[in-house]
Amino acid sequence: MGRVVGIDLGTTFSAVAAMSADGRAEIVHNRDGKNTTPSVVLFDGDDILVGEAAKNQIASSSGDIVSYVKRHMGSRDYVFMPDSSDGSYGPEHISAFILKYLVDGASEALGEPVTDALITVPAYFDEGQRNATKQAGVIAGLNVLGVLNEPTAAAVSYGIDTGFEGTVLVYDLGGGTFDVTVMKSGRGVVDIVSTEGDRNLGGFDFDNVLIELVLREFVGRGGQPITDTAILAGLRERVEAAKLRLSTSASAPVFVSSDGMTEKIVITREQFESATIDLMLRTEYILENVVEAAGLRFADIDKVLLVGGSTRMPMVRSLVARVAGREPDTTVHPDEAVALGAAIAAEVRTAHSQNREAELAEGKTVRISDVVSHGLGVAIQSSAGTMVNYLLIKPNTTIPCQIAVDDFGTVADGQSELNVQITESDEDGCDLRYTNILGTSLLKLSQPRPAGSPIRVVFSCDIDGVLHVEVTDLADNSYVGEMEILRTATLSDAEVSDLTRETASAAVQ
Ligand code: AMP
Repeated sequence: MGRVVGIDLGTTFSAVAAMSADGRAEIVHNRDGKNTTPSVVLFDGDDILVGEAAKNQIASSSGDIVSYVKRHMGSRDYVFMPDSSDGSYGPEHISAFILKYLVDGASEALGEPVTDALITVPAYFDEGQRNATKQAGVIAGLNVLGVLNEPTAAAVSYGIDTGFEGTVLVYDLGGGTFDVTVMKSGRGVVDIVSTEGDRNLGGFDFDNVLIELVLREFVGRGGQPITDTAILAGLRERVEAAKLRLSTSASAPVFVSSDGMTEKIVITREQFESATIDLMLRTEYILENVVEAAGLRFADIDKVLLVGGSTRMPMVRSLVARVAGREPDTTVHPDEAVALGAAIAAEVRTAHSQNREAELAEGKTVRISDVVSHGLGVAIQSSAGTMVNYLLIKPNTTIPCQIAVDDFGTVADGQSELNVQITESDEDGCDLRYTNILGTSLLKLSQPRPAGSPIRVVFSCDIDGVLHVEVTDLADNSYVGEMEILRTATLSDAEVSDLTRETASAAVQ
């Protein structure tokens, strides 16, 4: 085994951390000597550029550049086809290029090969997205120790650094996703109590609103509507820069050029904040839900942590302070805390698998318990004859967990097989249309049974949130079958092997 690292594979930026010889988590610099790397990939014929070099080309090579790929993680519908080559790339493959670049850089910086990694994911990632993230790591040539929720990682890093004891709320608004998590921390333990989020809410959406504002103003001044993707890509860059500036200044200029017309459009912070109020309200709604789901009131929260680059916006700080009734703690580094916590958790997992104590500074220890972010269940026939969801594992159940239910039964006389449909949904009894079907399996009974013959279903969820299902025929206690959930969204083993070979020989730089 070479070096073990924690990787924050972010929507806009990624970071790598490793444990130092004295048991502290430290950020590993990338090849440019920076702490974070833009999660951007540029396809230049056979060459694949990642990070700053790719991001710098966004305006000139938009047809060859992929950013925000994390938003498509676990989707089989997303395929990127660069202009400059014949290749086509799915989200796991593109993410693997980012990971390979990060890991190659980390191996150089650490002076020994990085072989193992724990990769962080938004708490609200579903099973398919978690698996896709693991597959990206495998395709990048890594031994993936597992995935870890980003807010959990941030809390681990904070808890270890400060020794804080109490109830902590983490508000994590990154580039593409939003999560809120409530946890209890203290005496080397981080217990997650509840978590919720929105996988399509982040800095990217604030950029979109700003782009709309600027374009509306441009057209208002007589400019032609802009549809050219290269011009829009360049504008997105400048708009994001203006957004960053608005975090510290009352106004920021954006230059827009098209069809021979150039305009300097000044956006004020007030304009920006009133245009994005709906986005902020979405975060407020989730914030309140999470605290309620934890069975708490804001008065019970001892510490509020802000994580993710977008929490640098002053309106985020004031919203959180208003809703939580206390000023958020600003000592955690929004861009680095997640990777640092991942490195600590990676050391804890490695130590556990090697039957030794984790090597943390000053004899510190940490035990991390997490929760499932989505409910898991099976489809059953309702008394009205329609198919509905039967919730077995409620959202926010602590993992690892196992739940056995004996209430199931055959529905027809002479039934010889069971059609088991595994669902992902937070609501018990809802119509199947509102659930995500994770997998379906036709399992054979040892012999035909009359209607109503009892069946046991056991759900086990591991520490990564991955589900395992076992079915028993209670008429004779015979084992009917078990299924690891094979999702349509993720790649097959053969596809992963092919992409791993391809990525190992790819010119990623
Ligand atoms: P992350 O995914 O945590 O790296 O967050 C990246 C997001 O944070 C991007 O959308 C950035 O535009 C945004 N961001 C970073 N710094 C700032 C800032 N100073 N003000 C506003 N947004 C920021």
